[in-house]
Amino acid sequence: MTMSDAAIYKGSHQVIPTVNPVYAQRRKFRVDGEHQVLWNLLDSVYDPELPGLTIWDLGVLQDVRKQDDTCIVVITPTYSGCPAVDTMKQDIISALNDAGYQQVKVEVALAPAWGTDMISPAGKQQLSSLHIAPPQEDDQPNCPVCGSSNTTVLSQFGSTACKALHQCRDCFEAFDYFKRI
Ligand SMILES: [Zn+2]
Repeated sequence: MTMSDAAIYKGSHQVIPTVNPVYAQRRKFRVDGEHQVLWNLLDSVYDPELPGLTIWDLGVLQDVRKQDDTCIVVITPTYSGCPAVDTMKQDIISALNDAGYQQVKVEVALAPAWGTDMISPAGKQQLSSLHIAPPQEDDQPNCPVCGSSNTTVLSQFGSTACKALHQCRDCFEAFDYFKRI
């Protein structure tokens, strides 16, 4: 781990390093960014539907710029028609307002499209701790409860369209799988 990694994950749970060029590029972009204070403030904004998962870890937060006194925050929603976007926008504005930044504009960028590779290693770990299996290359998730690879799909649609419902054949727990896109 570099110092920059340590700074991003300070106080966070243990991170399992994975080779993921999409995330590596995102992380570099953030670490090289001019407005570290703003990036860090936005680590207090969470996905309203996934407790403990920040908009950074989920891969929604793309850029933070300043134009005169205005903070411009760029986000890319996860799956299309995601109802969480309005809540996230409001939470972003509140987080920066509370820190004294009065002028905040949130821009939604649809290209490049969001993909599960944008989720950080910490985000994947948080999904597991919510008993949601993080996206897998082969779409064959391990059970987030007992870790078994002996799992089967019950339904292509879980609690939301972006998740599939799986069941573990070892501990019999049913769990959501965050589909890879
Ligand atoms: Zn299990």
